Amino acid sequence: MGPMDSGIRDVRAERLASGAYADVFSDLHPPLSRHEAFVESDRCYFCYDAPCMNACPTGIDIPLFIREIAADNPTGSAKTILSENILGGMCARVCPTETLCEQACVREAAEGKPVKIGLLQRYATDHLMANGQHPFDRAEPTGKSVAIVGAGPAGLSAAHRLAMRGHDVTIFEARPKAGGLNEYGIAAYKSVADFAQKELDFVLDIGGITIHNDKALGRDISLDALKTGFDAVFLGMGLPGVNELGLDGEDAAGCIDAVDFISVLRQSDDLSQIAVGRDVVVIGGGMTAIDVAVQTKLLGAENVIIAYRRGPEHMNASDFEQELALKNGVIIRHWLQPRALTRNDRGEVCGITLDYTNMADGRLSPSGESITLASDQVFKAIGQTPAEAVLTGAGIALSRGRVSVDDEGRTSVPGIWAGGDCVAGGQDLTVAAVQDGKIAAESIHRTLMQQPEKVSGFVEAVMTTSADGTPLPEHRTIHTIQVVG
Ligand SMILES: Cc1cc2nc3c(=O)[nH]c(=O)nc-3n(C[C@H](O)[C@H](O)[C@H](O)COP(=O)(O)OP(=O)(O)OC[C@H]3O[C@@H](n4cnc5c(N)ncnc54)[C@H](O)[C@@H]3O)c2cc1C
Ligand code: SF4
Repeated sequence: MGPMDSGIRDVRAERLASGAYADVFSDLHPPLSRHEAFVESDRCYFCYDAPCMNACPTGIDIPLFIREIAADNPTGSAKTILSENILGGMCARVCPTETLCEQACVREAAEGKPVKIGLLQRYATDHLMANGQHPFDRAEPTGKSVAIVGAGPAGLSAAHRLAMRGHDVTIFEARPKAGGLNEYGIAAYKSVADFAQKELDFVLDIGGITIHNDKALGRDISLDALKTGFDAVFLGMGLPGVNELGLDGEDAAGCIDAVDFISVLRQSDDLSQIAVGRDVVVIGGGMTAIDVAVQTKLLGAENVIIAYRRGPEHMNASDFEQELALKNGVIIRHWLQPRALTRNDRGEVCGITLDYTNMADGRLSPSGESITLASDQVFKAIGQTPAEAVLTGAGIALSRGRVSVDDEGRTSVPGIWAGGDCVAGGQDLTVAAVQDGKIAAESIHRTLMQQPEKVSGFVEAVMTTSADGTPLPEHRTIHTIQVVG
């Protein structure tokens, strides 16, 4: 008898033998040895106008850093990488290289076997971080201060670049730990051994960056206060909400937000205590759907099915990610969309009914047939939503709830920049958030350095002296003058 017949849900911790967790959650792409790095770097043609470099959102000089590895200069190689992407260590672990640099590699076109750019990047950055030295110096202090909202990849990248340019940076982060989805979202097998916090410490080593954790914009601080108290503001709040399925019973036990589940998993220091169902259904077709499906399977769920409403070619998850799921025993079923949750007499979710779909004239619609699957846990992984409420009323132009920015990351409000997942039209990738932060930081720097310095006593002098230098009578004192700076 299945759980739906009995209404009994089988959700348990400790599905694996206690020693098995470390093994199954080990590094997805183990690092290259020195010898392997030499062999791999030797495969690179050091192409002129290299297509791999053009495909990297942060524009890392890939042939140069590979050449530096080949010349046994991994420290120089890491500096080449980090000068464009300060989170190059994390990106080496999480970038979907199969759709970025490695897809563009000429060896991929010629032999279907690209140079392992991601692993080489990891080799170099791991080497540099292991020696504990920060590779960049701060410029002379500018006396300018910048507030950053959100300590995810976008915020940290902006903070590092601004600190390097000599500005003082203060980050306000809603969560107890900094790192954003690097700390709370990325699959556990992509970022092992607390790498997100190690990389955070590495970034902060530049100096000049202060992080206030547990301080949320809209709850503990206002945009007005940030605008008044700082010379510029950068918004990097990511996408804090999640899309709902729109079904009855969605808030019942057993219907779970995938991003929340992953964040609990990422913060756990004992994976054996994370309870998973025997039968699991994941709704979605992106990276989050793959990640939650693979991780529940690794935690010991017997049957994990991803249900996606369109075909494989429409999935946001790359071919590599889809294969990863299949290799781990996850079943991906296409052309299915959720219709109703089944609940037991305690109101807990124990199954889901899905409509088969088809596409006609570019429109997706139910075919009239449906299927009901037993499911101890139904995971929602159909996308995240922006922090619209926090920004409403601030005068910042939004597009579908995300912040509209120009190509320098400037919002419609002077003095406020934004980047990463919270802005409209982005790629929703770690590496893209890093690039946004870097571009916005350079724009902020240019803007702040063009502004006239505050002149001590200037306001008082103007407000109390007439054009010929004689003191103004009391009633002619000008009260409205504003001085930029
Ligand atoms: C489950 C999952 C897996 C993913 N896996 C990958 C992957 O393998 N590879 C990849 O390239 N990309 C992946 N991504 C996407 C990637 O993580 C994001 O694109 C990237 O983290 C965006 O960076 P960000 O700085 O814009 O936002 P975030 O990383 O979300 O950081 C935003 C920060 O702002 C804080 N914040 C939010 N609201 C406020 C507020 N009001 N006040 C103060 N602080 C606030 C948040 O707490 C958070 O720390 C994944 C995403 C998810 C959800
Ligand atoms: S495209 Fe491939 S072979 Fe050419 S420089 Fe880039 S990594 Fe090397």
